[in-house]
Amino acid sequence: MKVLVVNAGSSSLKYQLIDMETEKVIAKGGCERIGIAGSLLKAKGNGKEKVFEQDMPNHKVAIELVLHALRDKEVGVIKSMEEIGAVGHRMVASGEFFNKTTLVTPEVIKTLEEKTFELAPLHNPPAVTGVKACLEVMPNTPMALVFDTSFHSTMPEKAYLYGVAYEDYKDYGVRKYGFHGTSHKFVSQEAAKYLKKAPKDLKIVTCHLGNGSSISAVDGGKCVDTSMGFTPLAGVLMGTRSGDMDPSAVEFLARKKGLSHADVITYLNKKCGVAGISGVSSDFRDLIAGAQQGNKRCALALDMFEYQTKKFIGSYAAAMGGLDCIVFTAGIGENTPVVRAGVLEGLEFLGVKLDKAANEAKNDGTIHEISAKDSRVKVLVIPTNEELVIARETAELL
Ligand code: ADP
Repeated sequence: MKVLVVNAGSSSLKYQLIDMETEKVIAKGGCERIGIAGSLLKAKGNGKEKVFEQDMPNHKVAIELVLHALRDKEVGVIKSMEEIGAVGHRMVASGEFFNKTTLVTPEVIKTLEEKTFELAPLHNPPAVTGVKACLEVMPNTPMALVFDTSFHSTMPEKAYLYGVAYEDYKDYGVRKYGFHGTSHKFVSQEAAKYLKKAPKDLKIVTCHLGNGSSISAVDGGKCVDTSMGFTPLAGVLMGTRSGDMDPSAVEFLARKKGLSHADVITYLNKKCGVAGISGVSSDFRDLIAGAQQGNKRCALALDMFEYQTKKFIGSYAAAMGGLDCIVFTAGIGENTPVVRAGVLEGLEFLGVKLDKAANEAKNDGTIHEISAKDSRVKVLVIPTNEELVIARETAELL
């Protein structure tokens, strides 16, 4: 079966067509500037790339163009739409309404619209627009929703509750949900396979370090805690997000800067994190270059990121009562040895011993072990593959 994985944003729609027999991506691409002048689709297939410049006033036209590209003479990989066995949609937030991959039905869409939009106003509405567009264009193809939050649904109450009044959790759903679940699930399962151990026998901390970063504690194959919270603003400081801070500072900043509370939250999402600390960039490549040239604030931003990540690893080892493996993944986790070394420095007491040469080795897109042979805790770099998880879950559900 071939599964089309769709990730729709407000003005973008990314896709991959995956052959489930080989689990290989046979075509991929993305529509940009949907609803804005100058929209285009960049499509890859057959080892070629082609740009389709076409007006895309909405997501329906975008998905029609994707289906056209999938059957194109040059970059096309299928003859007819019927070859697509299912569509898997990435959905960010499920609230407590869905705790696993779910088949798309009119009731499910209604619940998403009525209950989850306010939980993820930037992500869920455009994703549902993408689902509806696909339903219009491919009404006979089964579709599944794969939630970023599902893998975290196994967290115990003591981990996901905030110390607010219990009624606030019951009445409004104010709690930790976590994000990047498909990535944490994928890399923790890959780690178990690599280590030739059953997931039930492993205590793993997975560090998804990218533009957005989250760290999870995976005990016995199940997520027991994670660093992101009610929204992806929580946890370690990120590219442009502040990470954890005292909520009283929100009201204080609002007063000092003459902003509404909503505007302060936007500010904490878009202008803070390592970009705000360094004053230079949200991109770790720029921060590393800056620090090497003596920029103290770039060095400080890196220090803070490494320190905060280290603290999550330590606290999750304590929460799980042990640690067998640390996994690094995503843009920073996979590509920046200096950050990995900074995170791991000082964790020798936990049984972590870094192999410096292995850590410095160039990322070749495969799993590699960066802990020393005699390190009690294994440290792995594992390329994440969220699309493959979405495709697998979709195929399994059907
Ligand atoms: P997103 O959350 O947008 O998916 P990524 O996982 O792509 O983010 O991570 C982006 C971060 O990864 C940036 O800070 C970037 O500097 C860092 N990075 C470092 N090296 C690389 C690389 N070779 N390729 C991509 N990103 C890299």
